[in-house]
Amino acid sequence: MLKVENLTKTFGENKVLRGIDGTVNSGQVIVVIGPSGGGKSTFLRCLNLLEKPTSGKVSFEGTDLTGLSEKALDDIREKMGMVFQSFNLFSNMNVLDNLTLAPKRVKNEAEAKAQTHAIELLEKVGLADKKAAYPDSLSGGQQQRVAIARALAMDPDVMLFDEPTSALDPEMVGEVLKVMQDLASDGMTMVVVTHEMGFARQVADEVWFMDGGNIAEKGTPEQIFDHPQNERTKDFLSKVL
Ligand code: ATP
Ligand code: MG
Repeated sequence: MLKVENLTKTFGENKVLRGIDGTVNSGQVIVVIGPSGGGKSTFLRCLNLLEKPTSGKVSFEGTDLTGLSEKALDDIREKMGMVFQSFNLFSNMNVLDNLTLAPKRVKNEAEAKAQTHAIELLEKVGLADKKAAYPDSLSGGQQQRVAIARALAMDPDVMLFDEPTSALDPEMVGEVLKVMQDLASDGMTMVVVTHEMGFARQVADEVWFMDGGNIAEKGTPEQIFDHPQNERTKDFLSKVL
């Protein structure tokens, strides 16, 4: 589904990605962990070309994205949902309108169809009763669940998450992780950057440890958490576990 080959990204003199290789298969959940500044966000942003790779290939469903025009990329990005640390909801619109805006504008969905789908998604994230609420009146955990539902409203083939729970008060982390876990159980293909090691262990098919612009080690959660091979992985885990 998604494949990167020898991906590099340089900002000025700063080599942020130093030749990343990896494959995300359909239905897989990849969890990316690693120290701050290691390049995790840059990597994720390169997957949908929000950040332009310096060299290498990013293929999505067989198409190399690195050569595409912005117009062609926009079509591809519809298939790749993204959720960030900050919720970025449209504050001047209620929850339902947040969900239906892109399907109506971008996919020309009729109002009724977009609303029916939106309400289904709000039920899925446990917020059907909040459809008329404005983002400011919701808790951080609720806002992030709306943000996930909004990304799902475009029927993406893959969901990219960049530290979706890092900005939340601790008591709200669980409700967002639960939604992500349900999504994984439903078979969604996901790439998740997170510091939530419990989630990584439970939900990941593969854990990628990223440090210094490289994927230093990849493996199943058991391999990475119970039997890490790389010294840098061991050192990182000794600090976070
Ligand atoms: P964190 O865990 O803190 O989110 P990260 O692993 O996501 O870290 P990145 O945000 O990808 O790391 O940053 C990796 C490096 O790239 C850092 O040195 C950062 O300063 C640099 N960097 C990221 N974006 C840019 C940019 N737009 N311009 C210049 N440098 C950048
Ligand atoms: Mg980051």
